[in-house]
Parts: sequence; C-alpha cells; structure tokens
Amino acid sequence: MSSTLDFEITLTDQPTPAAERERVLADPGWGVHFTDHMITIRYAEGKGWYDACLEPYGPIAMDPASQVLHYSQELFEGLKAYKQADGSIVTFRPYANAARMNRSARRMAMPEIPEQLFVDALELLVRTDRDWIPGKEGQSLYLRPFMFATTRALGVNRPANEFLFVVIASPSGLYYPRGIKPVSVWLSRDYVRAAPGGTGEAKTGGNYAASFAGQAQAVEHGCDQVVWLDAIEHRWVEEVGSMNLVFVYGSGAGARLLTPALNGALLAGITRDSMLKLAPDLGIPVEEGKISIEEWQAGCESGEITEVFGCGTAAIISPVGHVKGSDREWNIGTGEPGPISMKLREELIGIQYGTKPDPYGWVHPIH
Ligand SMILES: *Cc1c(COP(=O)(O)O)cnc(C)c1O
Repeated sequence: MSSTLDFEITLTDQPTPAAERERVLADPGWGVHFTDHMITIRYAEGKGWYDACLEPYGPIAMDPASQVLHYSQELFEGLKAYKQADGSIVTFRPYANAARMNRSARRMAMPEIPEQLFVDALELLVRTDRDWIPGKEGQSLYLRPFMFATTRALGVNRPANEFLFVVIASPSGLYYPRGIKPVSVWLSRDYVRAAPGGTGEAKTGGNYAASFAGQAQAVEHGCDQVVWLDAIEHRWVEEVGSMNLVFVYGSGAGARLLTPALNGALLAGITRDSMLKLAPDLGIPVEEGKISIEEWQAGCESGEITEVFGCGTAAIISPVGHVKGSDREWNIGTGEPGPISMKLREELIGIQYGTKPDPYGWVHPIH
C-alpha cells in the first residue's frame, strides 16, 4: 500500500456473527448500523499526522474540554463503496472527496490531510469490512470520514492544534425503499443555512445544526424538506435539505438543465459536479446560474420548467413535486418522477454499479 503512514491494525475479537450481519444487510435502513471496524488518525501541530490505526468500532474517549464540544470545529465527508455486478468493490470519485475535505479544512482552520492517506484509510476500512457491503440493487456501504478538534482548552484566541480524523462505515439500503416519489419542499424565509463569507461551502456539522429548526418548520407545514434561499434577499434558490438543486427546462431532445452557481454559500456536491459532466454527454446542455422563487413558480406555471430534483450522494436524485411558502404554493410536473431526472439517475447508478461504461474514470476499484 502506497501510504504516507503505516496503519497499526487491531481486529475486533468480537466480530458480529455472520447470521446477525446478514440480518442487518437484508434491510440495512440508512445510517443506523455500523461495521466492525473504524479508522483513527491523530494530528498534532509540529508533528503532523501520526498514529494511524484500524481498530474495533467503538466509543471515542474525549476530554470534556475538547474544542469540538464547545466551538464545533469539525468537518465531514460522505461517499459510498459499491459491490458491482461482477463482484468487484469500488468507490466513486474518492479523490474528489479528499480534495473537498481539504477545502473544508482550510475554511475551518483545520489541518489538511494528504489525499492519498485519506483514500488509503477508506480502502483499508472497506477491505477489512468488505463482508458488510450489501449486494442488492441500490445498496452500498456508506463511508463517513470526519475530523474534529481534540485540543483541551476553552480559550479561543489560540487555534486548536490537535485533531482526530476518523472513518466509520454504515451499510445502507435504498434511500427510497418504497420507490422514488417526488418530495414536497418548504421555502424557508425565517431561517438561512449559510451566508456569503460564512461556512456554507464547507462540509461542517455547524451548517447542519443551523438547519434543523428550518427542517422542523418544513415538517410543521406538511413538507418533506426545506429549500434554502440566499441570506440577503431571501429570494434566490440555493439548496434543498442537504442536496444541490437542478432545474429541468423543456423536455425530450429540447431539455436543458440549470443549477444554482457556486457562490460561496452552496456546498459543491460531487453528485452535482457529476451531473454537470454527464448531462452534456447525454445531449442535455447545462448552465450554472441563478434562479429566484418567482422565476421558479412562473416557470412551472408556464410549463417551461418541467422537472426539478435535488442531488447528493445519499439519495442520488430526489425529485421535487410540490413547493410551498408562506405566500405561495405550486406543483412541478405530473407528480411522478420526470424522465430527465430518471435518465440521469440511471446513468449515474449504472456507472457506480458497473453496468454502464465509465468514460470519466470516476470509479475507483478496491482490491
Ligand atoms: C454533502 C452535501 C451535498 C451533496 O454533496 P455530494 O458530494 O453530492 O454528496 C449538498 N449540500 C450539502 C449542504 C451537503 O452537505
């Protein structure tokens, strides 16, 4: 292994019995079951990354004065390992996740991790716990790398200088086990997720903490998810829940896509980026731009906008069927997932599961 560090390996002496594991994999749900092992790597200023370990999955002892518990200095990533049709195990664009983690790290004043060390850590965990990768259609092993400040100090004038990087893995089923149904979304005017100059483009837990009240409000209004609008005018559409948004204009051979441009407040999704590359090759032009809620409503009412979907690693594509705000409400399309959304979804899944060619080199085999 061409790692920048050698991992010390401690296998669990209490592995999950095979029958119990098979029971979990038959219906893994989402993010509730975890494999037998995890990765930990420590960082100290002046010393760099050290103590790389593969160890049994379990609690992490922390000093109560650890900076993450007080000031939320943390970040995370999310990607999946797939069992392909021929039995081989792959991940999807792991170096893109490594690069994004380091962009998040720069914004959060945290240390960058060598990309190869990040990918080596994922590979080691997936290889060790490969029996945990479910094999049915749409299933995968969700990988969650994350990092947080362990420095023991309440003072904030000196930045944290000790960190822990961890990777855990969770077998996951279809995000929509009962089939893909368009979701309803609530236009949040009371809360914003992220502001220019803030941390919106960093994948950090604080953005999620700031979003829960808005999500709860969406549910109170009978909606599945919340649409985040820009922080200043509360008019320009940014994201939906924890997904990027894509608008489909027209249909058939005339279809084209618009997605909000990265403006510092949006999270640069790897699914979004993959759509931007995939769609033109399928003959669907894409544009990164700006769209207001008025334009969204008018576009749906005139029939110009035919489909809208959220996209992200977990759900891949989540069609939006209904939009609701305090002063307006409208439908999108027919109430069924649209053909362009489903075509893009099928294409991306085909690459991930190896049933379609991968001209982009996105699929990363794990041997
Ligand atoms: C992770 C995330 C996304 C989607 O990113 P992917 O790399 O496609 O999974 C979109 N928005 C937010 C806020 C996110 O945290």
